[in-house]
Amino acid sequence: MSRAKNPGKPRQPKKLRVGIYGITGCAGCQLSIIFNEDDILDLLDLVDLQAFPFIKEVNADQHFDWVIVEGLVASEQDLATVKKLRRNAKYLVSLGACAATGCVPAYRQFTLKENYEHLLYRKQKRLKDVEPTPIDAHVKVDYYIPGCPPDKKEILGFFTAIARGIEPRGTDNPVCVECRKNGNACLLDQGKPCLGPITAGGCHAVCINGGLECWGCRGPTKDMNLNLMIDILRKKGFDDRFIRDRMRTFAGLKLPTLNRIFHGKG
Ligand code: SF4
Ligand code: SF4
Ligand code: SF4
Repeated sequence: MSRAKNPGKPRQPKKLRVGIYGITGCAGCQLSIIFNEDDILDLLDLVDLQAFPFIKEVNADQHFDWVIVEGLVASEQDLATVKKLRRNAKYLVSLGACAATGCVPAYRQFTLKENYEHLLYRKQKRLKDVEPTPIDAHVKVDYYIPGCPPDKKEILGFFTAIARGIEPRGTDNPVCVECRKNGNACLLDQGKPCLGPITAGGCHAVCINGGLECWGCRGPTKDMNLNLMIDILRKKGFDDRFIRDRMRTFAGLKLPTLNRIFHGKG
């Protein structure tokens, strides 16, 4: 009869193999993961962090259960990385606004080249840029953690859910719901251009709590009424150019009808 090894020791459940990667972006989303020291330790308890090149020297590059990607596709290298990560992971998560909507780096789609030419890396010849696009323009995305940057607690909540085998869930409510729960006076009523009504919540209306209007960094809600939002802002006295530019700042690539409403570039 064979004897069980360590008969008194309960077997530890296998942790999920996770990779965290960044393509074109400012790394702020990845910093959101590591800046909360307590949470990063909790994270290491929850999952087997196989790859996180931003902070780890040795990284696996395949056989992930979940791979988390910050940034948008803005170069051929980004595209190759995203496709490879998709092949090597069961689930792929878009982390932050760049990955989900293209965010501020995608704004070059909406302006003339002479407006940003001076910002290009002239010596980085090996960078082959492509039209900026969110990750889901190229590969299937299984889950989105929105925001610029995403909320640290929301990131940890995501990892806690997947580690427990629970489907992670965001909210479909607009920012206004959390804003009103917080008892804020509405900034639209004060004549300020707040995009809360068309923006996905989950940030606890952090900007409005601090007296700043929502710029839409968590992306549009699924059932937004874009035309109504534009009408409201027009009635508040904002001109079309202002409204268009404000709406394009974080989510322009996800609002293609703006082109029709406001007649394209410029
Ligand atoms: S979403 Fe914001 S914080 Fe994250 S990489 Fe893009 S610009 Fe940086
Ligand atoms: S301040 Fe903005 S987010 Fe808050 S209720 Fe008004 S429109 Fe909505
Ligand atoms: S209030 Fe708007 S801009 Fe501010 S964090 Fe929330 S979604 Fe982003």
